[in-house]
Amino acid sequence: MDPEEVPIIREGSFSSTPESTLAQSQEHLGQTINELQHKLQDMKVLQDFTSTLMLFHQGVDEILWDVARLAVARLGLEDCVIYLCDHENGELVQCSAYGPKNPHERQILNPIRLRIGQGIVGSVAASGKLEMIADTRKDPRYVCDDQPRLSELAVPILNDGKVIGVIDSEHSQLDFFTPWHRDIFLAIAAMAGSRIAAARFEQERYRLATQDPLTGLANRGELMRELKSRLDNATSTVAVILLDLDYFGDMNDSRGNDAGDELLRAISERIQKQSPAGSLVARSGGDEFVVVLNVDLEQSKVESEKLRECISQVFAEGSLVGLHIACSAGISVGINGNSAEDILNQSNFAMYEAKRKGRGQMCVHDSVMANHRRREQRIVQDMVRALESNSKAFNFHIQPIYSLPSCKIVAAEVLARWMHPELGPIGPAEFVLAAERTGNIHLLGETIFAQAFECIHKWKSNVQGILFHVNVSPIQIQKEQFVPQLLRQLEKAQVPPNMIACEVTESALLGDEALALRVLDSIVQHGMKLVLDDFGTGYASLSTLMRYPFSSIKIDRQFVKGLPHEASARTIVSTVLALSREMDLVCTAEGVETNAQLQVLQDMGCPLIQGRIFSDAVTPDAFEKILQSR
Ligand code: C2E
Ligand code: CA
Ligand code: CA
Repeated sequence: MDPEEVPIIREGSFSSTPESTLAQSQEHLGQTINELQHKLQDMKVLQDFTSTLMLFHQGVDEILWDVARLAVARLGLEDCVIYLCDHENGELVQCSAYGPKNPHERQILNPIRLRIGQGIVGSVAASGKLEMIADTRKDPRYVCDDQPRLSELAVPILNDGKVIGVIDSEHSQLDFFTPWHRDIFLAIAAMAGSRIAAARFEQERYRLATQDPLTGLANRGELMRELKSRLDNATSTVAVILLDLDYFGDMNDSRGNDAGDELLRAISERIQKQSPAGSLVARSGGDEFVVVLNVDLEQSKVESEKLRECISQVFAEGSLVGLHIACSAGISVGINGNSAEDILNQSNFAMYEAKRKGRGQMCVHDSVMANHRRREQRIVQDMVRALESNSKAFNFHIQPIYSLPSCKIVAAEVLARWMHPELGPIGPAEFVLAAERTGNIHLLGETIFAQAFECIHKWKSNVQGILFHVNVSPIQIQKEQFVPQLLRQLEKAQVPPNMIACEVTESALLGDEALALRVLDSIVQHGMKLVLDDFGTGYASLSTLMRYPFSSIKIDRQFVKGLPHEASARTIVSTVLALSREMDLVCTAEGVETNAQLQVLQDMGCPLIQGRIFSDAVTPDAFEKILQSR
């Protein structure tokens, strides 16, 4: 109560007689008290709204339901409906409604959509001015439905001077709404306006922090939070299905990034539609998607197959028409207390296993895989330690390459070896892959080259006419500094570059093709030879390979293995030999083990062979002895 208002009543009483003055004062006082009581009541009503609006809300919808419910309960209304503007479509959308027309609590079965400008509510949205209609029958704008009402109050909800919605109430009584209703509605609309804006801002901030902008799916951060929460609260199993598209990179390269984005969006829609209710669907990066479900292993396999099936459907319309893309899936299942990182890593590992087995399939993380993974982790750890400490655990063996028919040593291939202090010898097929995956391949390459070049220098007097082949990983080729570094090592060891040949596989030509071409050219320009390794295992045709400065190719041992009996192997080997003669490429057959293989290769005119039939890969000391006994 404001005490300053009291003397104003006394002032008005001076001109009257004392008796009437007293009576008048009492009447004034009565009125004032009455008014103040009303004001107090209004304040209480408004306070109810303020405190309700200040409660924690999940989002804008929840705020609107609370406002509508309170309006009906506290203002004695028959109904209260709140619309929000959809400015993009020029529409108002009904977002909450309490009253007989919508008997469902917090749920609208068929939300009304009005054009902005249509009806009384639409006019309020268009003009930004409130409407208080005493008799709706006299207002042509009133939209009659099956339950017409006689009076109406509609107030705009504003934010920053812009209409963002309308609060509306209708009543079956004529002239029901009073200035009191109007003022309270205005106050509620003002409070709701700023609260909605704040909630929207918060929602947007949350969306940006948790959503992948391209697909609208959960991003990696959100995936980790949600998976952790599901595992922490799990009463049964939580399955993680990781889906990775096969050859997405190729399709991105051939059709362009826009088509790639389009494909990712289309695939994300398919995954969302196919995933059972309650699943979390995330894009964890690139072309990798994750579906988290509260199911057991058997059910997760069924779901994973359904997902793979639906992803690989051919696109029947739109810009992707005719395209189809397969995917590989990895599954891991966790229980309460498991770490989200572990479960996700496991499904990632299972997915890699599916890729390794030839893609387009599903693998489940199991104990064999777990052991494999532990071994890989250990190998990576120990490899880094061994390489950095420059220990002699890493060294090389060397395998002679012979010319036919003379059977003279004309070259030798340097092959990396690792003697692990506890695990024993580990083959390069295993550790080279781990080194490539973890970026240690550069250091590994340098370590092997340094030792090999040192030996070559030492053998100088014995190795005239012998070309030393070193293996170069595709990842090394994708580094501009590769050749300068190699030349520095050669110079340091005093080995002329023309004694060296670099063996690369076709996968070296993928990735940044221009960079690969620059690096390969530079190898040749500096006097080294360039050899295409494992020919026939990739996709490139000989004519594509002619764009690169190869002087020699090695026929993969899988074809040599089929000789002399398999007709297909014979055809492939003889065709490659004929073509390479035509193209002036020297051919080496790898993995020659038997006399029969040797004989047929010689008959076909294969100029060079490498394999156990003459010599396995041997230690540098053993190789030195071979050289001396020539
Ligand atoms: P690759 O370059 O194709 O090497 C030939 C592989 O065949 C070697 O296996 C060799 O020991 C094996 N081999 C030789 N003759 C025969 C035979 O008659 N029969 C059979 N079955 N195999 C034979 P290794 O040493 O295990 O190397 C495997 C792969 O590891 C190599 O295949 C190469 O791709 C990679 N690698 C080896 N050393 C290095 C290296 O220093 N750097 C890089 N980046 N990769 C390397
Ligand atoms: Ca090789
Ligand atoms: Ca090879």
